[in-house]
Amino acid sequence: MKTRSLLLASLLGCSALANTAHAAADPALKAEIAADIDSQAKQIQVGTDLIFSYAEAGFQEFKTSEYLQGILKKAGFKVTAGVAGMPTAFTATWGSGGPLIAVGSDIDDLDGLSQVPGIPTIKPLVPGAPGHGEGHNAGMPLVVAAAIAAKDVMEKHHIAGRLMVWPGIAEEDLASKAYYVRAGIFKGVDACIFNHVRDSFSTGYGEAGMNGMVSVEYSFHGKTAHSAGSPWEGRSALDAVELMDAAWNFRREHLPVTQRSHYVITNGGAQPNVVPAEASVWYFLRDRTFSSIKYLYDTANDIAAGAALQTGTTVTHQILGYAAPNFGNKPMAEAAYANIVSVGMPKWSADDQAFAKAVQEANHRKVEPLRDKVAPLSTPENRPTSIGGGSDDIGDIMWTVPTITMWFPSNIPNMIGHNVISAMAMATPIAHKGAVAGAKALSMTILDLMTTPKLLADAKDYFNTVQLKTDHYAPLITASDVPAIWLNRKIMEEYRPKMEKFYYDPSKYNTYLDQLGIKYPTMK
Ligand SMILES: [Zn+2]
Repeated sequence: MKTRSLLLASLLGCSALANTAHAAADPALKAEIAADIDSQAKQIQVGTDLIFSYAEAGFQEFKTSEYLQGILKKAGFKVTAGVAGMPTAFTATWGSGGPLIAVGSDIDDLDGLSQVPGIPTIKPLVPGAPGHGEGHNAGMPLVVAAAIAAKDVMEKHHIAGRLMVWPGIAEEDLASKAYYVRAGIFKGVDACIFNHVRDSFSTGYGEAGMNGMVSVEYSFHGKTAHSAGSPWEGRSALDAVELMDAAWNFRREHLPVTQRSHYVITNGGAQPNVVPAEASVWYFLRDRTFSSIKYLYDTANDIAAGAALQTGTTVTHQILGYAAPNFGNKPMAEAAYANIVSVGMPKWSADDQAFAKAVQEANHRKVEPLRDKVAPLSTPENRPTSIGGGSDDIGDIMWTVPTITMWFPSNIPNMIGHNVISAMAMATPIAHKGAVAGAKALSMTILDLMTTPKLLADAKDYFNTVQLKTDHYAPLITASDVPAIWLNRKIMEEYRPKMEKFYYDPSKYNTYLDQLGIKYPTMK
């Protein structure tokens, strides 16, 4: 059975190679994929709207995860829930023989960014609640549709190969993918395609210019006392936090310009008249390379020890997340980009353009229409020199197996990242159409990898001889670190009851905007 399907796959691969200029799958099969995705457009819309309405913060994506697992099970995937020590994580696998291709996207959102979709003005759906101010709600509906389409076509044409669908958990906390890697989830995976929302449609390769990072919480331990009656009996953990932050801010001037570091005080004590015996501060320490992230981490550990010494307290620290610098695979990016070009941008309606303009104007952003052309392939040659920036823990997978990020066009140009205005379009036709386009390009690229042995060989060769020549995977999480699954638990416990009444009910309403009674496009 296995031998026969492998033989068929190699035959298909060879005939596809003979028929096309690039090492790519048969165009007729890609046309079938596009039609399959079109037939799933309703499911993509429902998933995008539903996950928008669930609006779950990192590690608390229970409803979202359950929904996605349900669709994948129904489509014939074998679902393993709770992998890598994370209750909301899962893998969904299908197929036999051939290559193993992994596909994923993030599912969590950001604290405090609740927003009514489909209106151009800032208005929370549930004040204070989390919200999809980055647009992670559209990624997995796209990935699931692409995986199902690839499976349909592979089954029909007896193409050997295996798929593994996985969700990015707690990406906004950069807290899951290093644990996927450590747990061996990507062992045996031949290539991985990650998908992320943008206002443009493209992909890229090489060192991506983003920072890697370590997320670490420092907890100081002192001694409580009456702040007025006998302060000399106390040792303030909050003093230590403040001294650490002050020292870090002085040291900042003498750190590489590519570093980005920021902190929030997660525990500053209970009330002023009690000397705080416990206080904590949570740092994100980011830079370009594995060694420079380690340097920041060592520096922060030294500063924390110094702050403890100065205040007569002790300090412990816990890693809450890690993200490796990003590096995209060139042969895979070129293959994916050819599919992006062939799919092209969604056909935006006049209503889509009107809504985009209304959002830009109302929020004082540069007015620019929804894009009508795919963006250029992002390469080390055409990217501006990086001076650091944000992070994505897909980096950990990128340094484990050949991987690319495909960006799909589900948002409005010139939005602010990690902001409520980035949520406004994410449950509208703009998001839905962008996800359909992204699903087509993804599914076609899966098929390229399944049926073109040369592409996979080139991808592995680039990974081994180009990427691994520049650096090697050196995460800072240790065997004793565990996924920080307690993050956001209290926040969701507080807000979930208020959010539940806004959950999208696709059995009653065509779209989430219909359920909320929002006309599209709402211009004011
Ligand atoms: Zn993201």
